[in-house]
Amino acid sequence: MTASKQLIIDIHAHPTFTDFMQEGHAPPKPWPANKKLDVVADPSKMGIAMHLTSKQYKGQQPKMFSVKEFKEHLNETHNMINFLCPLTKGQSAKESNEKAAKLIKQFGGKAIGFAGFDPSGKDPVGDIEYAVYELGFKGLKIIPSLLGLDINDKLFYPCYEKIQELGVPITIHTGAGLIMGCRINHVRPILIDDVAFDFPGLKIIAAHMGCWDYMDVHSLLLRHANVYSDLSAWPLDPVYVDLLPWKVFEQTVSDKLMLGSDYPAAQTPQEALEVVDSLPISEEFKRKIKGENAAKLLGIK
Ligand SMILES: [Zn+2]
Repeated sequence: MTASKQLIIDIHAHPTFTDFMQEGHAPPKPWPANKKLDVVADPSKMGIAMHLTSKQYKGQQPKMFSVKEFKEHLNETHNMINFLCPLTKGQSAKESNEKAAKLIKQFGGKAIGFAGFDPSGKDPVGDIEYAVYELGFKGLKIIPSLLGLDINDKLFYPCYEKIQELGVPITIHTGAGLIMGCRINHVRPILIDDVAFDFPGLKIIAAHMGCWDYMDVHSLLLRHANVYSDLSAWPLDPVYVDLLPWKVFEQTVSDKLMLGSDYPAAQTPQEALEVVDSLPISEEFKRKIKGENAAKLLGIK
């Protein structure tokens, strides 16, 4: 990296491509304009998510790349991409993480990954250790609503304990993101308050800044030294971006927010980056969001 080039880290993307897909992780589909959302549909039939971002509101398919095209796309700007691999109910952590780890290796040093686990599985703590020690994952990721559990469910506690011990971060989905069949109650961001109190050494990333509950996440960021947030999907969506008090965030939580695209569910890494560039904030805060905060959290020099 040259001195003039900014550090760009996309902390929230998914390993879903036209020529590679994790089992159970169907790509997002456009939602027909004006069609009522059926939130009680079975998520296992829908794959991981039916996000409604501005593109899908217009009935457009978010852009998907092949692995090769995605590498080229990143090469234009990005220093690093983080692939998140949360599980849907009943999926094997070992198989899913092994498959993702192979894909991540294809990117050389440019990609890292956060592995999935299911606390209802046979040996979730063992799955976490295997993912970090053997497969080289740099963190973990869960969408508790896909597992039918609350963020602060005690079933997660032995896993949180292990992740804290390993010293790696965990990304937790927060907010009403329109994932089919999933109850908002499981992923209310404020539930992170319990986890942050009970595991003060656990580095927690609240994904999507809580979607529309961004001020709840703001409270968590102010209260807890160990809570961070990524801005993927809703906060950087052109339909919603102007709602957020960016100047307040700059004065209060500027060291806690990180760039994320939620590729391919929401934006391409480039699109997310362009939205950050357009925010009404200082260049210094933009640099922190684009990569400096993530580098610090991940221990990248
Ligand atoms: Zn995501």
